[in-house]
Amino acid sequence: MNVDTLIVGLGIVGLNYAEQLRKNNIDFVVIAPEEQSASHIAAGIVNPTVLKRFNAVWNAEIFLNCALPVYNNLEVLLGTKILYRLPIHRIFNSTQEQNEWGIAASSAALEKFLNKEWISNNRQLEINAPYGFGAVKQSARVDTQRLLTDYRTKIILDRIVSEKINHQDLGVEDGSITYKDIKAKKVVFCQGYSSVVNPYFNYLPLIGSKGEMLIIECEALSEQVIYKGPIFLSPMGNYKYWVGATFDRTDKSTKTSINGREWLISKLNQFLKLPYTILEQRAEIRATVQDRRPLLGVHPKHKNMFIFNGVGTRGVLMSPLLSQWLFEFIENNKKLPASVNINRFENKYFRN
Ligand SMILES: Cc1cc2nc3c(=O)[nH]c(=O)nc-3n(C[C@H](O)[C@H](O)[C@H](O)COP(=O)(O)OP(=O)(O)OC[C@H]3O[C@@H](n4cnc5c(N)ncnc54)[C@H](O)[C@@H]3O)c2cc1C
Repeated sequence: MNVDTLIVGLGIVGLNYAEQLRKNNIDFVVIAPEEQSASHIAAGIVNPTVLKRFNAVWNAEIFLNCALPVYNNLEVLLGTKILYRLPIHRIFNSTQEQNEWGIAASSAALEKFLNKEWISNNRQLEINAPYGFGAVKQSARVDTQRLLTDYRTKIILDRIVSEKINHQDLGVEDGSITYKDIKAKKVVFCQGYSSVVNPYFNYLPLIGSKGEMLIIECEALSEQVIYKGPIFLSPMGNYKYWVGATFDRTDKSTKTSINGREWLISKLNQFLKLPYTILEQRAEIRATVQDRRPLLGVHPKHKNMFIFNGVGTRGVLMSPLLSQWLFEFIENNKKLPASVNINRFENKYFRN
C-alpha cells in the first residue's frame, strides 16, 4: 500500500493530525493498537486557565478558539455527542481566595475566562464549599473515549492498522518510509509517552507523569458542573463521574496503586458529601516535557520523520491548533513557533 503519510499512534494527538490530513485530502495510514492510552482515560477537560494559581494557560485564547470548533465539527462528522459545554466551579478555600479570584478575573489575561462574581454554595448537601465557587466560563469536556473509538471505527476504519510497531521494522530512506507492506513518503510519530523507546526521538527530554483516576457512581449529584476542589470531579453521564488525578513523576508503570486510590478518595471526601461507589481505577502516563512545551518538528537527520508529542496535561486543548502548525510546517514549509520546535533541544541532546 502506497500512502503519503504514516501516522504512528492514535491518541488525541494522532487523531488531530489525522484530521488535518483527512480535511486536506492527503492520503494516510494510522498504525496504533486498540489499547487504551492517556487520551482514553483523560477527563477531557478543556480549561484555558490554571486553577491552582489563577493564571491563564500559555496561549490560552488561540488554543481555545481553535479547539472548540474542531471538536464541534468532529461531533457532526461522527454523528455522536462528544463536546459538553460545562462550567468549572473552583471551590474556594478561604475569603483570601475569593479576593484573589476577583483580582485575577479582572485582569486582561483572564477576564474572558473567569466570572468576576463568585457563586455561593446552594448545594450544601452535595458539596462542601463554605466559601463558595469561582466559575470558569469557556470550559468544556470532550468525551475522548467516545471520540477515539468512533473515529477509529467510523472515519478511518479502512486506513488503520491495529498493531504496535517495532521500530526496528521501519525501513528508513531519504525518499520513503516502509513498514511491512506500507510505503509512505513520511512518518509522523504521535506516540505519547511511549516515544521514550523510539530510537529516532528518544534524545528528547520527555519526562512523563503518571496519572491515576477513578470513575465513581453517585446519584443525586449535579451533572451540569465540573467541580474543581483539590482534584477534579467531572460528570460523564448516567450518574458516573470522573475523579482525578494524581501526578507522579517517578513511577512509569501503568499499574493502579492502593496509594493512588487512597489519595484520590481522601481528596474527594474533602468536598463530596454524597455517598458514592467506586466503579473503576485507571492509570496512564502523560507525555510531559522538561520545559513544559510541546515537541513538534522534524528529525535532525531524517527529513521525512516528524514528531508530534509533549502535550502534557493539556492535550485536548492544544492538539487541534498544534496539529495545524505541524501540518503547515510539513506540507507548506511554514515555520514552527520556536517554543514548540524540537530543534530547541538539538545541540544539547542530539549525540550523533
Ligand atoms: C489521568 C489523566 C487525566 C488527564 N486529563 C486531561 C484533561 O482533562 N484534559 C487534557 O487536555 N488532558 C488530560 N490529560 C493529558 C492527556 O491525556 C494527554 O495530554 C494526551 O492524552 C496525550 O495524547 P497523545 O496522543 O500524545 O498520547 P497517548 O494518548 O498516550 O497516545 C499515544 C498513542 O500512540 C500509540 N503508540 C505508542 N507506541 C506505539 C507503537 N510503537 N506503535 C503504534 N502505536 C503506538 C498508543 O497506542 C496510543 O494510541 C490527562 C492524562 C491523564 C493520565
